Amino acid sequence: MDVSSEEIKAYLSNDIFRLISLAADEMQLECYVIGGYVRDFFLCRPSDDIDIVTVGKGIELAESVARKLGKRTRINVYKNFGTAQIKHKEYEIEFVGARKESYSRDSRKPVVEDGTLEDDQKRRDFTINALAFCLNADRFGELVDPFNGLQDLSDLLIRTPLDPDITFSDDPLRMMRAVRFASQLGFDIYAETFDAIERNAGRIEIISKERIADELNKIVLSPKPSVGFILLEKTGLLDRIFPELMALKGAETRDGIGHKDNFYHTLMVLDNIARQTDDLWLRWAALLHDIAKPQTKRWDPKLGWTFHNHNYVGEKMVPKIFRRMKLPQNEKMKFVQKMVSLHMRPMQLVEEEVTDSAVRRLLFDAGDDIDDLMTLCEADITSKNPVKVRRFLDNFKIVRRKLKEIEEKDRVRNFQPPIDGNEIMTVFGLGPGREVGILKSTIKEAILDGIIPNEYDAAYSFMLEKASEMGLYPTKKND
Ligand code: ATP
Repeated sequence: MDVSSEEIKAYLSNDIFRLISLAADEMQLECYVIGGYVRDFFLCRPSDDIDIVTVGKGIELAESVARKLGKRTRINVYKNFGTAQIKHKEYEIEFVGARKESYSRDSRKPVVEDGTLEDDQKRRDFTINALAFCLNADRFGELVDPFNGLQDLSDLLIRTPLDPDITFSDDPLRMMRAVRFASQLGFDIYAETFDAIERNAGRIEIISKERIADELNKIVLSPKPSVGFILLEKTGLLDRIFPELMALKGAETRDGIGHKDNFYHTLMVLDNIARQTDDLWLRWAALLHDIAKPQTKRWDPKLGWTFHNHNYVGEKMVPKIFRRMKLPQNEKMKFVQKMVSLHMRPMQLVEEEVTDSAVRRLLFDAGDDIDDLMTLCEADITSKNPVKVRRFLDNFKIVRRKLKEIEEKDRVRNFQPPIDGNEIMTVFGLGPGREVGILKSTIKEAILDGIIPNEYDAAYSFMLEKASEMGLYPTKKND
């Protein structure tokens, strides 16, 4: 990788680095910017997180920098961890004294002592994350790279600085981080590093679900998430953290009829949707859309392989998976459930005839999420037959046009029927009960079927007509 010292100095020309340099020299401390910020310089990725390491006295240096930045500077000191954090403009700057770490077998909590820069670089997870630029004036911008991280950056390799078995056994989260960086950056995992992940995969059990979910979300959000999931599968991590996804793997054939491998299909859908959206939860919906296929798989001699109701069974599996993985139990999860439940509807629409009433129902059920549902459904087309793909995509254009026309005309997206249960009870002098429910849903169905327009007067007359067929008459006149 060819980078001139002028370019490095230009990268560090920000005032903040000059101030840190000044403060460190005043205190006669060796001081470096290290880790992600240095890596991202070489990768030309924007980065606002700056990690500063000093040989000794990290907190004192941070306090001196904060004083130089002015009274209003916010500084948080974490005495227990020996770190301090300053927020300055868009930057988050973390200060720490260089440390040496040693671990015991059953904990991620290391025994920490003060150390040299090299000790500190050794405890970093990957060679590309162990690079440091010196900030002291006499060596300003000098790269310190004891593990050939720069070479690995240009070879696109994730490799541990030390024996990978030790690195991963010390802190098994690093296995997830290896896969995450490979997926985010499009890097390969160095063969020995990969083998060590395979050997240590079982150790992932000691990592908290929250930390695993953080890494998993970063994989889901990476440009081509299949890279990460295939690595998770090949290293044996997937089976331990996400067995439901693993269960999608494999294809069976009977009487010469096979079904697709739903693991690879799911990953194709995820990659497809990743080209269309950065929405984490829509990407999760893609990952989970077929999650219930293994449970619902049946062999029918006439129909071949079927997966009846896999969308509904899948919808029910989502909360269990989210709970176990410590993903949010809120409207984001409900959105994923809704997408999983409805994911086949637009496709069914194009397979049959695209009637106004079917389109109206889809609009009613999907509400404001209709565009996301269409995006998911288009991503779900992974056929290898280009003629088929073209036909589906053309039909989708028709559905999208119809959706627009009908929404403009009937406004059924998120609609509430113009007459509610309370009004029905008042008009007919009824208490809560079956008849109220029947009338209410009859009105809703009539609007969705296009029998009556989505308007109050039409709904009121229709209600009177249907009620009289049930032997019900208004006790109160409508005025
Ligand atoms: P991102 O900002 O995308 O999460 P990053 O590596 O830039 O990735 P952090 O996760 O904040 O940012 O980590 C900062 C640095 O700390 C890393 O570059 C690495 O040197 C070190 N580091 C972080 N986590 C670990 C770990 N589990 N083991 C060893 N070193 C780590």
